[in-house]
Amino acid sequence: MTVRNVLLIVVDALRLDHVGTYRDDIKLTPNIDVLAADAGVFDHCFANASTTDPSVTTIMTGQYPLRHGIFNHGQEVTERELATVAAVESVPMTLQQSHHTFAVSHMERWHKRGVDAYIHPHEHTDREDDTSFPLSYSPAEELTELTCEALRQRADDDWFGYIHFMDTHIPYRPSYRLDDRRYMVDGVPKIPMETVLESLEGTHWGEYLEQLPSQIETTHDLLTTYQNGVHAVDTAIGALTRELKALDIFEETAIILTADHGESLTEHDIYFDHHGLYDVSLRVPLIVRAPGFSGRYDEFVQHFDIAPTVLDVLEQSFDEHRFDGTSLAGSKPDREFVVAEEAFVNRNSCIRTAEHKYIKSRDDDRTCRYCGYEHGESRQLFSLREDGDEVDNIVAKEPGLADELDAALERWSEATRARRRDSEIDFDRDLDRDQLAALGYL
Ligand SMILES: [Zn+2]
Repeated sequence: MTVRNVLLIVVDALRLDHVGTYRDDIKLTPNIDVLAADAGVFDHCFANASTTDPSVTTIMTGQYPLRHGIFNHGQEVTERELATVAAVESVPMTLQQSHHTFAVSHMERWHKRGVDAYIHPHEHTDREDDTSFPLSYSPAEELTELTCEALRQRADDDWFGYIHFMDTHIPYRPSYRLDDRRYMVDGVPKIPMETVLESLEGTHWGEYLEQLPSQIETTHDLLTTYQNGVHAVDTAIGALTRELKALDIFEETAIILTADHGESLTEHDIYFDHHGLYDVSLRVPLIVRAPGFSGRYDEFVQHFDIAPTVLDVLEQSFDEHRFDGTSLAGSKPDREFVVAEEAFVNRNSCIRTAEHKYIKSRDDDRTCRYCGYEHGESRQLFSLREDGDEVDNIVAKEPGLADELDAALERWSEATRARRRDSEIDFDRDLDRDQLAALGYL
């Protein structure tokens, strides 16, 4: 059957090793697993950035952050970044001519471009339990209800929909049902929260974690709430697929599911956040249910492949040069490496091959804005075959290899900068915030 619609599901901070499709002993995601059984599953998909704003911008534009311009996140996004992305076309902008476009997400700002109906869920400040920890996002059930309503209104039309679940982002699921402990991830140590807070004393992240309810006594308690979040999102995805079937549009709807980034659950001394360019924060699930996709794919793919894939499965023509990624609908890309960047708490880039990861700091002051200390050295090299957890920096042992990867990263950087449409971007003129607000970018 011809695909008429695309539903893009982004689950914030969903780790690959929490999805049953990727790990047999996980029973958290029965609905995603059913979806994946009848879809194409990408085993080596990497985010192009480890924070939400640049990552979602890459998903929607098919470009590296270096090209679309958004590196930072939230309040840190600069006017120059906003002016740069303003010149880049997003998938909803392209599809607006032929499709109804809608989104159910808290993201707003420039992410609204091209979206006919941007449905912002209510801000929730109360929780199911009796704690007072502020919650700034709505639970999966509410997003699903809003999405189902949007689907019912558009069942006879061609549409593109984007739903962004937040239950898996700290402070995690709006429920601290600690009796609902499902499984432990290997290597997540049980550390008293007191010890974690002592190590982060006086820092931004320490102050944030201090607000957690006192019933969160250890890192395993917090892990349980994360897992409750994963399970809640999975249940919501089950409801979404049921609605598509009830409306008799399931077969004509392509479903693409990914995470905007992973999550560090104590790894690298990063506690329940997603900065750093380690695989726990970069490697993400990618499941594509559309005609021609089936089984497992081993190739290196990245978020920037999603935008051309969406247009391809909807049989929309597009100029290949617009994207840094390629459509995954036909032959899969043959890449020797992937590249990712971060700028929110530190400015770092990394290049990852099947064998190695090389991370390069681009900051003079490498103090993490969240954690107050330096994460690793300024150049880090890991042998992924022997050291999948990326803890043993072998730069000193393998200086030649580090230099080789450094040179490859710089070549990539130069080539990507050359692809920027600088002529269309007026870097000398910083738009003032009023102008940007008037344009809907703030
Ligand atoms: Zn940090």
